[in-house]
Amino acid sequence: MAAVELRGLTKRFGDVTVVDRIDLTIAHGLLVCLLGPSGCGKTTILRLLAGFIEPSAGEIRVGDRVVSSLARTLPPEQRKMSMIFQSYALWPHMTVGENVGYGLMLRKLGHDDTRRKVEAILHAIRLDAHINRYPGELSGGQQQRVALARALIVEPETLLLDEPLSNLDANLREEMRFELRRLHDAYRYTTIYVTHDQAEAMTTADRIVVMNAGRIEQIGTPEEIYERPGSEFVARFIGGTNIIKGKALDRAHLAISGLTLRCGSGALVPGSDAALSIRLHDARLMTAAPPAGTENVAPATILRHTFLGASRDYLVALGSGDQLRVSAPPNLSLPPGATVWLHLPPERCLGLGD
Ligand code: ATP
Repeated sequence: MAAVELRGLTKRFGDVTVVDRIDLTIAHGLLVCLLGPSGCGKTTILRLLAGFIEPSAGEIRVGDRVVSSLARTLPPEQRKMSMIFQSYALWPHMTVGENVGYGLMLRKLGHDDTRRKVEAILHAIRLDAHINRYPGELSGGQQQRVALARALIVEPETLLLDEPLSNLDANLREEMRFELRRLHDAYRYTTIYVTHDQAEAMTTADRIVVMNAGRIEQIGTPEEIYERPGSEFVARFIGGTNIIKGKALDRAHLAISGLTLRCGSGALVPGSDAALSIRLHDARLMTAAPPAGTENVAPATILRHTFLGASRDYLVALGSGDQLRVSAPPNLSLPPGATVWLHLPPERCLGLGD
């Protein structure tokens, strides 16, 4: 069982540090997503892992083997890793069967064994019937599945995926997320998956590593990252949240102009600039005054709303000028300019101390 370990991994291009002292251990068999905005260094980490580039400092270990360090960088073909890129890069002049079997042919596996393995993996990706087709005769999703099969057939210890679904349309992308996860569960290799799409990370990953400017912001399960973002950056990047900025009165209370809000979780640093995060669907609009003593309630004005079918997305303004988005039931229709009560239940308010 070989864990992948990054220790102080750093990559500089000229004066620019693109990957900055990354420490990360990925247990064997996990699917880990590196998630972050464009340019934060995700693909560079993948290229370091694959051995296409060398680190400026630090090292990468797989099990007890050092595969990258300043002293020694193992070439890609000796790493037991397969990498899949955004563009599936299938060979257009080879059939599906030939594309998938190519890696085994290079390893000089006999014809019959190759055929058997190719058929088995095409069955696993539900493309058995297409073994004699050419890539040009397949849909984008089918081509991506062939690329996956081609990477998996050589039985890599580690699979590296660089935005593998970004060329697919929205429906196919959703279907392929489940397909990727299903194959991962069936074969149990270690997968490191780069994406900037939080929904993709949430639906496929065992662990999400949120990155920002070459550093790790937070590591956690999808639920942890969503429910307990450790910083404003993570809360904003994962999306669907409101951030309200103010001054921390104590570890749980935030003052914004004319209003004190209590945070049921997270910890504020008393006296510091701080923020509160609340998800769109956790904030509530009330048309009647709440019972006396209800915490975290403030008058608000409706600015606009959008009907989304299953919900209605409101933009409201507090007296302080802060604007919040609220996801409300679709049958609650309030016109712009209407005055309402906004309730931010304390148990759904997360204090962000940084
Ligand atoms: P994206 O989601 O857009 O692919 P990313 O997080 O994968 O972004 P990287 O491709 O790792 O980002 O790039 C990180 C930074 O390093 C970028 O600013 C990029 O321009 C820079 N960079 C990458 N490769 C090189 C290179 N060979 N020489 C110089 N700069 C590079």
